[in-house]
Amino acid sequence: MRIMKFGGTSVGQPQRMHQVAKLVTADAQAKIVVLSALSGTTNTLVQIGESLAAGQKTEAKAIIDQLHAHYKTFIQDLLQSDSYRAEAHQIIDEHFEFLNIILKISFNEAINRDILAQGELMSTKLFHIYCKEAGIKSVLLQALDFMSIDENNEPELGKIGERLTALLAKYPQDTLFITQGYICKNSRNEVDNLKRGGSDYSASLIGAAIKASVIEIWTDIDGMHNNDPRVVKQTRPIAHLSFEEAAELAYFGAKILHPASIWPAQLHNIPVKLLNTMQPEAAGTTITAEEQGAGVEAIAAKDGIIAIKIKSSRMLLAYGFLRQVFEIFEKYKTPIDMITTSEVAVSVTIDDRTYLPQILEELKKYGTAEVDENQSIICIVGNLVAESKGVIKNIMDAMVEIPLRMVSYGGSKHNVSLLVDSKYKVDALKSLNKGLFGLD
Ligand code: ADP
Ligand code: ASP
Ligand code: MG
Repeated sequence: MRIMKFGGTSVGQPQRMHQVAKLVTADAQAKIVVLSALSGTTNTLVQIGESLAAGQKTEAKAIIDQLHAHYKTFIQDLLQSDSYRAEAHQIIDEHFEFLNIILKISFNEAINRDILAQGELMSTKLFHIYCKEAGIKSVLLQALDFMSIDENNEPELGKIGERLTALLAKYPQDTLFITQGYICKNSRNEVDNLKRGGSDYSASLIGAAIKASVIEIWTDIDGMHNNDPRVVKQTRPIAHLSFEEAAELAYFGAKILHPASIWPAQLHNIPVKLLNTMQPEAAGTTITAEEQGAGVEAIAAKDGIIAIKIKSSRMLLAYGFLRQVFEIFEKYKTPIDMITTSEVAVSVTIDDRTYLPQILEELKKYGTAEVDENQSIICIVGNLVAESKGVIKNIMDAMVEIPLRMVSYGGSKHNVSLLVDSKYKVDALKSLNKGLFGLD
């Protein structure tokens, strides 16, 4: 079984959906096609939720009506026959009726997640109808029947596999399955999601759950590039990455992949391919267990980082001190990304500020805690050990004009992380592009 995931831009226009149908029927292999919402829809659903949370029902209604109009036009261009158009209008109208009903009831977080789920529910139904009209036999599987997360919001891979295998067994003759990315059920059996960009994660989880032969992430760019194409002018696709390298890049800001989307594939050693829906013949990026090449492969940046420096003249070198500090972060379920230590201080970074006041309060027991907000981690990834002599020098030469708050090297052989004030991020990415790749 092959997994093919198409992102928002890949399904965001009727002609693109037609192209997706061509891609998924190009050969006879069995496939699960995982779809995102049409581009812009999830952002709009977020806006609807925000308006409702702020009690602005008139505003929410206007946004709902505008989105509804967008879907009506989409259907006209997606489908040709009156009967299929009527079927599609009826389905979409039901989803908008649901949104309009929500306007009348009291808003809460569970309802918000129901709102967010509408995008993927609609895109998959529209694609399924298009397949029917085009004479393509397909089965629409409901992700809410098999995708689930536990009370810690972690996916239940074993259960997902059991449920999905049982569902697929009901259709022994079929080879084309369609399902929603992003959405799932939580431990309270409510509709939930895998966070923004989560359709990649869905695809990888589905692939791992049924031990697929390949997980293909089809998007609007020809693979993982060596630097953030939204920030620097010249970037180039990388033909091959190891699971570790891809996971580092995804976690540290390469938006092309959801931060958690590599581990499920890695667990079962399933290759992940990043491909371009608009340019399907391009090689894209293949991600496998194999380590290839030496030196720096790519750079990514993650914003919204908070650095905390804990100073303690007495206790730092005492054994057990770091454990005590880490236990505070563990207690508040706040992951630490970077760590640097000196004799009198330890600096750590976090990206989740939910429990920051409580964490700072508890850290007071061990010394003083200073906080720097608006920081960015610049993550430099590759097979860095092989060329370690030159790599650090090249990185530092490129960063010579930029103040560095933290440097982390040697944690793994794949990564050097630098922490800079976010106001220097663009300059840092540009300088590194020039210094490490000779690109503008
Ligand atoms: P989709 O809607 O298909 O999931 P996304 O917008 O989530 O697509 O991800 C694709 C986008 O990721 C690209 O258009 C590109 O702007 C951005 N991106 C950021 N960093 C990288 C990178 N290193 N390589 C490729 N794309 C990147
Ligand atoms: N539609 C969701 C989002 O925009 C999930 C995804 O596209 O991956 O975040
Ligand atoms: Mg995405």
